Amino acid sequence: MKSVSLYTCAPQLSNDMAEVLRLYMGNITLLVNEAGGDFCITHTEEIKENQRLVSACMEGKTVQESADLTGDEVIDKRLRRRMAKLCIYSLMKAHFGFTPPWGSLTGIRPTRLVYAEMEKGRTLDEASAQVQRIFDVSSEKLSVMRDIITVQQTLPVPQQDEIDIYIGIPFCVSRCAYCSFLSGEVGNGKLLTPYVDALEREIQLSLRLLEEKQLRPRAFYMGGGTPTSLPAPLLARVLTAARPLMERCSEVTVEAGRPDTIDRDKLQALLDARVTRISVNPQTMHDETLQRIGRHHTCKQTEDAYRLARDMGFDHINMDLIAGLPGENLSMFRQTLDWLRDLSPESMTVHTLSIKRASLLHLWEAQLPDGDMVADMVRAGAAAAKEMQMEPYYLYRQKYMAGNQENVGYALKDHACLYNIDMMEETANVLAMGAGAASKRLFDRKGFIKRAFNVSDICQYIDRVEEMAQRKRELWEMAEEDAKEETKEGTVLS
Ligand code: SF4
Repeated sequence: MKSVSLYTCAPQLSNDMAEVLRLYMGNITLLVNEAGGDFCITHTEEIKENQRLVSACMEGKTVQESADLTGDEVIDKRLRRRMAKLCIYSLMKAHFGFTPPWGSLTGIRPTRLVYAEMEKGRTLDEASAQVQRIFDVSSEKLSVMRDIITVQQTLPVPQQDEIDIYIGIPFCVSRCAYCSFLSGEVGNGKLLTPYVDALEREIQLSLRLLEEKQLRPRAFYMGGGTPTSLPAPLLARVLTAARPLMERCSEVTVEAGRPDTIDRDKLQALLDARVTRISVNPQTMHDETLQRIGRHHTCKQTEDAYRLARDMGFDHINMDLIAGLPGENLSMFRQTLDWLRDLSPESMTVHTLSIKRASLLHLWEAQLPDGDMVADMVRAGAAAAKEMQMEPYYLYRQKYMAGNQENVGYALKDHACLYNIDMMEETANVLAMGAGAASKRLFDRKGFIKRAFNVSDICQYIDRVEEMAQRKRELWEMAEEDAKEETKEGTVLS
């Protein structure tokens, strides 16, 4: 692993700068204001005549950025961070001689940048050009963003009094090697009933809050973990408790991601609850890969679960794939796409493998696959979606992604998942229930967001569920001026 000595007058920006260094060097050890790195970078700042001047220097090369101070603390802070990152980016690009697909961008929601430019009165074309100019985003990725925004603009915009509903079931039947979700294995099942008891209580209290604040549910999403890892009677209990929320939403999704958790009884419970969309996630159609990544099911099980759901009447089934899984090459990924095309789901999300710190792959010190190969896989995914007449409708990026690519959701016309869009664009309030769930309130002021987090530990959640409901109440009773500022700068403008 390479190490970098970063001498900076703003150590609070060192993580931001390190993100750019990782675009070029992968995992690095960052030595802040310490000698001994393989590379040595100096970052300086000064304010002169109402301008911030930022420079960075490495191996005799110096780059500079400057911006007028606006007097708005939030904007100035954002620009300061951006300039530091851009300086490091210019140094890296000059040294390593290549341009990453997303240029200098390291944030998870790149489309927000285009929207931010459009909010200044620019057209989509002008906003895209501006984003390309500032952040050096490739034309290929810019075109994906434009297609996504074009689709999103045809969909209903969340209103101030609307709210998305999230319910988390933090259990799964075994741990996929790439998984970093909060999920405990079902194990001996002892926690399942107490968890559902607590969740029912939280749903009840949340309903009361919703009524009092006159919030209108918009999109419903049950995820986790894998909700269908609950036995059918417990799943039915959650669905019954959530029914008053679900029936007021235009879209109701339940993750049935693991085919080995799906059976007729559970699907019937979902149908009875009027779930409109489920996810049955193959990830790959190669059995040897499934075993390698700890998914204890076969491709045949995926196909059987999919066909059962279809036969029982589900008319929107989503399927997720991952490009760059360990041991896979382009032709294997193409085979997965061909197989998926034959099944004809209404939507699919093509993920790119990312090795998150909380995953087993990270523990095993697995390496990311070749970036060029993964880029070709992502292109193959886009081409297959087009053949299936699907349009891209949302995207997000993650840290430590193979080839610095992205995850893109595709859907047939009128099948885009509003909840996914709302999450990625941060355009809707969220009332979230369950261990580790995060509720979100958007204040009137643009970009002003405050969150309330539920505890992640399942036992703690069970013991403290009343407190979790109270946290949400406090969030919705907080006056805007009392809320601590939590702007979207971290995700929007990086
Ligand atoms: S199925 Fe989903 S939640 Fe379960 S272990 Fe795999 S990635 Fe994690």
